[in-house]
Amino acid sequence: MGENQEKNILSKVAIVTGSSRGIGAEIVKTLSKNGYNVVLNYNKSQNLAEDIAKKFSNVYTYKADVSDYEEVKNLVDFTINKFKRIDLLVNNAGIDLVKTITDTTTQDFDNIIKTNLYSAFYTSKEACKYMIKQKSGHIINISSIWGLIGASCEMAYSVSKAGLDAMTKSLAKELGLSNIRVNSIAPGIIDTEMNSFLSESEKIELYNEIPLKRMGTPLDIASCVIFLENNPYITGQILQVNGGWNI
Ligand code: NAP
Repeated sequence: MGENQEKNILSKVAIVTGSSRGIGAEIVKTLSKNGYNVVLNYNKSQNLAEDIAKKFSNVYTYKADVSDYEEVKNLVDFTINKFKRIDLLVNNAGIDLVKTITDTTTQDFDNIIKTNLYSAFYTSKEACKYMIKQKSGHIINISSIWGLIGASCEMAYSVSKAGLDAMTKSLAKELGLSNIRVNSIAPGIIDTEMNSFLSESEKIELYNEIPLKRMGTPLDIASCVIFLENNPYITGQILQVNGGWNI
């Protein structure tokens, strides 16, 4: 067996959904630097995904729309066929919607819930089968401050993130017996494309509300993934990473 093959077998295996850019991309890079074999899932941004994989020899791209159960099954099958195990699932894929309730269509609501919440049900359901057999595993849901306190004009998004946190607590209780941990990371405002609609003056207004006077960075979130990975007695928790915004 070649040295690389042996290294692949010894390394932990992670799937990070929606990781072609932003927070997910940073989680992929950080896990890769920490020796994980990482499956980088993307949907639309193939070029961005491949650019990352070119730079990290232990990162493998896989296209799947995580709001589609069949595609999620294929993503998990791809991972198992390649590595025979899944140690860490990070449910990061997400979309935002800023609309009043009267403007929110039933299709908008479906789309947000399917992409942000059903996706985590699909991936967790599929990945768990293998984690239960392994008697080990860790699921991290990237939720949001808005799931905890609710955002005006982002009702659908807030509901999807509150649902993720409920999934975290529920599955932590159900799967602890199989030595599977489930945690959420709930970011405040992080500097990614998701917030590119904010003007400079809107950003300054936000900084004034945040005790640490800045937006978070994708690395602020990625480092929490490693923290949770390295602390095997933490489960069922919602780790708030928001510069003190809601205290
Ligand atoms: P982003 O820059 O907009 O990136 C979103 C990622 O999700 C992209 O890589 C996109 O991939 C992927 N994605 C979207 N729909 C998908 C689908 N159906 N299937 C697979 N992948 C899909 O967002 P971000 O700021 O990094 O956010 C990442 C996560 O953190 C989200 O869950 C978000 O709700 C959460 N969060 C963000 C903030 C913030 O302030 N940025 C705060 C709290 C929570 P493709 O382009 O390839 O489709």
